[in-house]
Amino acid sequence: TAFTCVFRCFPCDPSCGSASWATPEFTPRSTAPMVKMTRSKTFQAYLPSCHRTYSCIHCRAHLANHDELISKSFQGSQGRAYLFNSVVNVGCGPAEERVLLTGLHAVADIYCENCKTTLGWKYEHAFESSQKYKEGKYIIELAHMIKDNGWD
Ligand SMILES: [Zn+2]
Repeated sequence: TAFTCVFRCFPCDPSCGSASWATPEFTPRSTAPMVKMTRSKTFQAYLPSCHRTYSCIHCRAHLANHDELISKSFQGSQGRAYLFNSVVNVGCGPAEERVLLTGLHAVADIYCENCKTTLGWKYEHAFESSQKYKEGKYIIELAHMIKDNGWD
């Protein structure tokens, strides 16, 4: 999505970007460098606040819109897991082939871009035709999510 693209196109991670500002011989009169360092939160993508959303339980970064939820009937290593059509603030590890309950799949671990916690996995490829609907979709374990915005 456009959100993810904007997020990924930032040239540098906030932790490494701040290094050059902290050199002792560079003593600026303005407070600009401090402002830059505290802006790290803007690296997060935000979902519209009018929607019910799921957030990272560890850092509260938005993860997915409720409208993107496909199924609640998945099983992760730590219990219940949800299948989403799209997610935000999520990074992806290398894909590898794994034999799951529903057959052989190529999957990649996904993690929160904000706090780096592993959240679940992405289905890169399904080898059985009955499982093709999962390709390109994301699994997030319920243990890593919290509901935000307008949930009763
Ligand atoms: Zn997080």
